[in-house]
Amino acid sequence: MHSELEQLLILQDRQQKIRQIQTEIRTLPLERTHLESQLASSAAALDALKQKARQLEVARKNLELDVGTRSESIARLKTQQYQTRKNDEFQAIGHEIERYENEIRKLEDEELELMIEADKLKSETEGAEKSTRAIKETISRQLTDLEAKSKALDSQQQELEKERQALAAEIDPDSLDQFERLFNSKGDAAVVAVEHGVCTGCHMKVTTATASRVKAGKEIVSCENCGRILYLGAL
Ligand SMILES: [Zn+2]
Repeated sequence: MHSELEQLLILQDRQQKIRQIQTEIRTLPLERTHLESQLASSAAALDALKQKARQLEVARKNLELDVGTRSESIARLKTQQYQTRKNDEFQAIGHEIERYENEIRKLEDEELELMIEADKLKSETEGAEKSTRAIKETISRQLTDLEAKSKALDSQQQELEKERQALAAEIDPDSLDQFERLFNSKGDAAVVAVEHGVCTGCHMKVTTATASRVKAGKEIVSCENCGRILYLGAL
């Protein structure tokens, strides 16, 4: 193979690797954001449970206060009842006491329901705390890995960049210029194989003359269709 062609192929290999690394580097912030949002949503779920527990506790305390005021009313009414000498007043007070007692029973039933709900919530919260801890551990490990990956990719990129510069310095400036223009405009490769008479860059058949010039390997030959530099692949 033409030695310049070999150099260009090596150069292309390094540039493709650099391009891959750059693509990977670009995905890193997205991966990080994704991990951080998982972390945030698990913490938010736990917070919501805790908030609900606080609300239940407030509601339960209010019921307790309501029971308290009714108990006080009952005590006051019982004193009044004890002091009255009128039979109908005695009975009227008795009905009022009964009404408060019924209310207290209803309030206590509600309180009991809230306590059952609070118990359920407590075990839910414990489960959520456990899973949040596990998620936090996993994700902080993944974030550390991501950081390490980012550093590794940066240094790989620097190494390849150095190698690329050294290779480029040895290539004829005109060929290098042609290569760079093709590499940047084609998006995939500037130097491609001719296989069974077909350019593997654009998948078109090359002319017999082009195919024989490639085969001869004495010069840089371009595909007449796409302009990519050709080397001999499978015959
Ligand atoms: Zn082509």
